[in-house]
Amino acid sequence: MVTRSSGSTPDGSRLAPATVERVAAGLGMVAAPSRPGYDLVIVGAGPAGLAAAVSAASGGLRTVMVEAVAPGGQAGTTSVIENLLGFPAGISGSELAARAVVQARRFGAGIAAGRGVGRRAGLCRRAV
Ligand SMILES: Cc1cc2nc3c(=O)[nH]c(=O)nc-3n(C[C@H](O)[C@H](O)[C@H](O)COP(=O)(O)OP(=O)(O)OC[C@H]3O[C@@H](n4cnc5c(N)ncnc54)[C@H](O)[C@@H]3O)c2cc1C
Repeated sequence: MVTRSSGSTPDGSRLAPATVERVAAGLGMVAAPSRPGYDLVIVGAGPAGLAAAVSAASGGLRTVMVEAVAPGGQAGTTSVIENLLGFPAGISGSELAARAVVQARRFGAGIAAGRGVGRRAGLCRRAV
């Protein structure tokens, strides 16, 4: 996705044009895969991908998520989620996504946002 508008990052850098990739990089969400190989590449960092990353990375798998847009998926656009276990007062989708990213990173999972994955991405030898 390419937008025609410009924007700025928290450090004041101008982004023009403000593509998804540039905004994600400016917000520190894009990290080029830092390892030569991974045990698990998760396509999509919605709730399912983030939960999988926390489980896999905490279990010792070298894990990276590749997300086409931004972490959080559909849930990240939700103002309040009221049926999530452990959040009796509800939580916003963006807060949930931010917390999940911190948790996944704490276990060593990587995340590269603003990158869509196609069948020819070549990041993994075997798709499951
Ligand atoms: C407005 C709204 C309100 C909602 N409210 C609630 C609620 O209150 N309670 C509730 O339980 N559920 C709610 N939902 C549903 C909930 O958000 C979804 O069930 C949940 O997000 C599904 O998670 P997921 O990870 O399976 O998929 P998604 O959230 O769809 O995440 C998939 C991710 O994969 C990425 N992706 C897809 N293809 C590729 C590719 N080729 N390469 C890289 N990345 C890719 C997408 O960009 C996306 O970020 C709501 C949904 C919406 C839209």
